[in-house]
Amino acid sequence: MKIVKEWCMYCGECAGVCPRCLIEVGEATITFDESSCKDCEICVQACPVRALIKEE
Ligand code: SF4
Ligand code: SF4
Repeated sequence: MKIVKEWCMYCGECAGVCPRCLIEVGEATITFDESSCKDCEICVQACPVRALIKEE
């Protein structure tokens, strides 16, 4: 999973749905612990602006 930061509006949806709590969203920041990501795509589906993209 990768983040297109230019598209993110920091709504926090993705952080709320990640079963591993790997995404942290602040007022104008988003960070993601890539090392533990299982590519389950739950966050990808949850993002209203499609700022999260599954990497092939
Ligand atoms: S793909 Fe799954 S494990 Fe990875 S950040 Fe998104 S919700 Fe979390
Ligand atoms: S769900 Fe999308 S727009 Fe919302 S904080 Fe996550 S990446 Fe940004």
